[in-house]
Amino acid sequence: MLAVAGLAKSYGDQQAVVDLSFDVAVGETFGLLGPNGAGKTTTISMICGLLAPDAGSIRVAGVEISPDSVEGRELIGYVPQEIALYPDLNGRDNLAFFGRLYGLSGAPARERIAETLELVGLTERAGDRVKEYSGGMQRRLNIAAGLLHRPRLLILDEPTVGIDPQSRNAILEAVAALGEQGMSVLYTTHYMEEAERLCRRVGIVDHGRMLACGTRRELVALVEERAQITVAVASDAAGVRGTLSGRAGLVDVTATDDRTVVCMVEDASAQLPLIVQTITESGAVVTDVRVEEPTLDSVFLHITGTALRD
Ligand code: ATP
Repeated sequence: MLAVAGLAKSYGDQQAVVDLSFDVAVGETFGLLGPNGAGKTTTISMICGLLAPDAGSIRVAGVEISPDSVEGRELIGYVPQEIALYPDLNGRDNLAFFGRLYGLSGAPARERIAETLELVGLTERAGDRVKEYSGGMQRRLNIAAGLLHRPRLLILDEPTVGIDPQSRNAILEAVAALGEQGMSVLYTTHYMEEAERLCRRVGIVDHGRMLACGTRRELVALVEERAQITVAVASDAAGVRGTLSGRAGLVDVTATDDRTVVCMVEDASAQLPLIVQTITESGAVVTDVRVEEPTLDSVFLHITGTALRD
């Protein structure tokens, strides 16, 4: 759906985007993850044809995107960070206005407006003036405006920054629902947990460069992070440790006290049943099990050398 190749952009001496390449498949929600100033907004502006790249190419459904041409723009729904709404109009009238810009009127417009209001959870507030909305509700209406013309690729620029938890959740649910309906989504964020929740694949960007790209499993493998399985036993953790040590797939086993064994494994879902079975067969009693998968946070830390700055 989206193919970005060798994209570059500088503002004077400041390199904002450096040789950036990635693809988004049809129906995929792809996360572009990076701290403030990583180059996400610059990248999106180029993808939307609002900013000319210094180098590289952008194709949406095979159509070359460029600021010199409007070709392919109708395929994209762009939701900017800034709210672009009319505060004195109500939610429904705002959408009717944006609908007219896309050539929508009459019954089809009413139908799409109702559909998008429902998706972002604003049906009941559609008759209220936008200036009476919370920041999060305005953000949700902004998203609805980007969806009215039924784009094939929705681009969201940090849609949940600085909003209340209820609106944040409504946005995440709406994006997940769009993904299930088969829409392609490019989702930029500096919130790791959002990328983990919504995106199968994630690209990690910092200082304008794509440092790593892949599924969580691929990224985790890249930095050799392990999953941790903590097993509580009724007694004799040292004996249980002895029973487990040396098993295939177990990278490390330690007894942290008399009732706790900590196993570092490569694949938690494969190892968990085997570990519990081995312990039980040895005659020991398992009283609790906790699995901690490596997170994108630790991957980010490994790759960039810094925690994800806010
Ligand atoms: P944020 O979440 O803060 O918007 P971002 O990842 O979207 O961050 P960009 O806004 O693309 O990052 O900025 C990338 C770099 O380019 C930053 O160092 C920024 O200061 C710089 N930059 C962005 N826009 C301009 C501009 N119009 N003129 C000069 N420098 C700019």
